[in-house]
Amino acid sequence: MSLKEKAYLPAILGGMKITLKHFFKKPVTIAYPEKKREFSPVYRGQHVLKRDDQGRERCTACGLCAVACPAEAITMIAAERKRGEENLYREEKYAEKYEINMLRCIFCGLCEDACPKEAIFLTDRIVMPEPKRNNFVYGKDLLVETLENRIDVSQRQIKSYTVEK
Ligand code: SF4
Ligand code: SF4
Repeated sequence: MSLKEKAYLPAILGGMKITLKHFFKKPVTIAYPEKKREFSPVYRGQHVLKRDDQGRERCTACGLCAVACPAEAITMIAAERKRGEENLYREEKYAEKYEINMLRCIFCGLCEDACPKEAIFLTDRIVMPEPKRNNFVYGKDLLVETLENRIDVSQRQIKSYTVEK
């Protein structure tokens, strides 16, 4: 064996030793998507626009979330509630259009903190992968919770009340 080959041998043996050391250890990775990690209750995932206890949209299109958003990911158009729509929108002004660009969003949660109506919350839902960029602009159809599928944000609400002053 040449000197060069002899010099590699310790390195190879060292590498094999490391491989063997890890071979019988429990893997740190998980077989996603078969296995999914549990998220924290305050994980910052896809947003929800909440309805109140009577099913009316809470958002009043005040725009504070859009102003607070550092990524300028939120756009909305406000409209005035018409007679007969009292069961749809909680206040006279509502968001006729409300969009979040999920590609711009950095999931910082500032929109949630800025909202005076407890209308927008981040949730433990993940933003699904998409082949088309345009599909990442989420409108009200994807953001407003349905009456049949209310999103539990109680953990996030508790957090906002327990912030130490
Ligand atoms: S989580 Fe942050 S970046 Fe995303 S929409 Fe809200 S404020 Fe903007
Ligand atoms: S989600 Fe909240 S902060 Fe944003 S426009 Fe609606 S009421 Fe205002």
